[in-house]
Amino acid sequence: MNGPKTHSWIEELDVYAAGKSKVDGQIKPIKLSANECALGPSPMAMEAYIEEAPNLYRYPDPVYTELRAALAKKYDIDANRIVCGVGSDELLKVACKAYLKPGDEAIFVAHSFSMYPIAIKSVGAIAIEVADVNYTADVDNILAAINDKTKLIFIANPNNPTGTYIPKKEVERLWRNVPDDVLLVLDSAYAEFMEEADYSSGIDLVDQSTNVFMTRTFSKLYGLAALRLGWGYAPEKIAQTLDKCRDPFNIPSCTQAAGVAALKDTEFEQKVIEHTTKWRKWLSSELTSLGLTVIPSVTNFILFRFDDVTKSAAAANDYLTQHGYILRYYSGQGLDNFLRLTIGTEKENKEVIRLLREFLENK
Ligand SMILES: *Cc1c(COP(=O)(O)O)cnc(C)c1O
Repeated sequence: MNGPKTHSWIEELDVYAAGKSKVDGQIKPIKLSANECALGPSPMAMEAYIEEAPNLYRYPDPVYTELRAALAKKYDIDANRIVCGVGSDELLKVACKAYLKPGDEAIFVAHSFSMYPIAIKSVGAIAIEVADVNYTADVDNILAAINDKTKLIFIANPNNPTGTYIPKKEVERLWRNVPDDVLLVLDSAYAEFMEEADYSSGIDLVDQSTNVFMTRTFSKLYGLAALRLGWGYAPEKIAQTLDKCRDPFNIPSCTQAAGVAALKDTEFEQKVIEHTTKWRKWLSSELTSLGLTVIPSVTNFILFRFDDVTKSAAAANDYLTQHGYILRYYSGQGLDNFLRLTIGTEKENKEVIRLLREFLENK
């Protein structure tokens, strides 16, 4: 009597390792491990969320009419081709559910978002990891891995955890060389932070393609990670397919209202972008002057390596943790000697640097 047996691929599946938020013996550690917003949630979103509370007894709008209209207006896109998810994480999984079957192959890049192999394997497909170059996605490596079994490609642009990006023309070169029956998923979770002129979130590519799906999130710039709200933009046929594969009432009404309000909160948006840009520069230069190697970032986090110093990332991670600062330490993924730091408040940023200096100077 062993009870029901799940599929072999579910048995072997890893659980997503979230950024730590607790430390033994620490009452309220500073969490800089999950790329959350340094300035908290959008105030307008918070207000809208609370205002919606009296409607909690009603099922939410299953097609989130207002939220899609607000997104369509803000980005000048077709509301009918917007799909929302319980975080963009749900959309990544829904894409796999819709377009992969056991034995199919899906490609992702080394040192990228760890949800990709989990989403791929959750439907029994095979996750093919291709090498990056200088911690950046490499189009030629991706193209070389495509074969008859390939049905989906994930790329995060900008990428997490490395903070790097590839320019619009490289994404277009990738797309031009990908067979039309392969779904190209452009995960643009950090697009809102991007100021680089040669970057595109992929909206334009979705508009001219039949096989590109762009995903976005309210978790990062808008500071709404707890709401679990993501959205995607796809060609019509793909949007309809994805809608069939998601839950009918996947986005609560409070969340829909908060999303609509966040999109109008341009003052907050601007504040977050300015804060991020300013402290990213400061932190990158401080980390470099401590002898650490910084991977150039365009996002709200910085990945850095302990190669020219005598101490290890693991030891630094322990030291910071003991002092109440939680960064992201990757023991897997081939980033053993790196830490990833989410940009925090002014006080938090200065304290992280002070602690790292103390740690490195302490022989
Ligand atoms: C944070 C993140 C997401 C997930 O965002 P949610 O909308 O909170 O699920 C997706 N992709 C990348 C690359 C991320 O860093």
